[in-house]
Amino acid sequence: MKKSAAFAAIVVSMIAVISLPGCVGSGGGGCMGGGHGGHESPSAPPAEATVAVYSCPMHPNVTSPDPGFCPKCGMALVRR
Ligand SMILES: [Zn+2]
Repeated sequence: MKKSAAFAAIVVSMIAVISLPGCVGSGGGGCMGGGHGGHESPSAPPAEATVAVYSCPMHPNVTSPDPGFCPKCGMALVRR
């Protein structure tokens, strides 16, 4: 009966060691998971903010995802 308890304790400790290989090897820097996953989730800007939209100063309804010229008046599209 005591053997099974001791065996269970050994198994538990081995599982604990096996499940933390990165902790032992990396010097304890990123083993809590906060170093890598913590800083990129909350404040990522939406995709729309990174897409430049160009529009004609005289014709705001004329927009283009790329720089160019207004087809109505020929003015250069400005980024907004
Ligand atoms: Zn225009």
